[in-house]
Amino acid sequence: MAVTVATLLRMAGKELSKTSPTPRLDAEILLAHVLNVPRSHLYARPEQRLDGDKLRHFTLLTIARQKGRPVAYLTGRRDFWAMSLKVTSATLIPRPETELLVEEALRCIPVESRWYLADLGTGSGAIALALAIERPHCIITATDISEAALDVARDNAHTLGIRNVEFLQGEWFAPVSGRRFAAIVSNPPYVPDEDPHLLSGDVRFEPRRALTGGPDGLAPIRKIALRASVHLEAGGVLLLEHGYDQGERVRTLLSSAGFTDIRSIRDLADHERVTLGRFGD
Ligand code: GLN
Repeated sequence: MAVTVATLLRMAGKELSKTSPTPRLDAEILLAHVLNVPRSHLYARPEQRLDGDKLRHFTLLTIARQKGRPVAYLTGRRDFWAMSLKVTSATLIPRPETELLVEEALRCIPVESRWYLADLGTGSGAIALALAIERPHCIITATDISEAALDVARDNAHTLGIRNVEFLQGEWFAPVSGRRFAAIVSNPPYVPDEDPHLLSGDVRFEPRRALTGGPDGLAPIRKIALRASVHLEAGGVLLLEHGYDQGERVRTLLSSAGFTDIRSIRDLADHERVTLGRFGD
């Protein structure tokens, strides 16, 4: 008597509730992944039964999740901006709040523009690829220090058939010396090195280099803000994601770096999460 989808979800959900804040959702995503069906299928066919191999696979994933491994690393995928992106432990898992950065960048970039844009520290390519889809005439340069992350980003571009992004290896602006952009975006590491938040949940499994930014978290943002003027066209914009309590300090940084029209945007949790400024003109 093979076990049904409905029973499995109930059992796994209960098991995962000991360690996960989203047990039922996790169980559904993992089971849909094992069965290679959309999640809605689990509700349409709750009486479906699993064969031995699939059951074993699901059990292994559930155990790994119970030990804390992020669901996105177990399935190798995460949705962002209506794209299904490949993610590995070489990349951060794209966050919903980063869609705010994309939204705000799109407000600054006219639909038909043929601008050159840069995404620094692209990781899985989430921001660069979203901009590339929404602004098909723009050319986006995405940099990352991690070759392993760039492999994932390139893979995502290829799978999605996106051709207006180039990927370059190097830290922040290093691979684009002498080049200027109409807009520069970045979701850099910004968590303070000793932040207790790093000790629990999914972040424990994410690349530390992509998360932490020195004692106050702001070292990468400082570097980017200081160098950005050299790489922005006159009137160009810089948009940065940052920590929930860093808005004021990022505004001050941008202001001392010569930016104007500086403002911050709040995320759904009502935290200042993205700050932007204009350079020159
Ligand atoms: N928002 C993420 C977190 O708090 C950090 C992402 C980042 O450092 N860019 O876990």
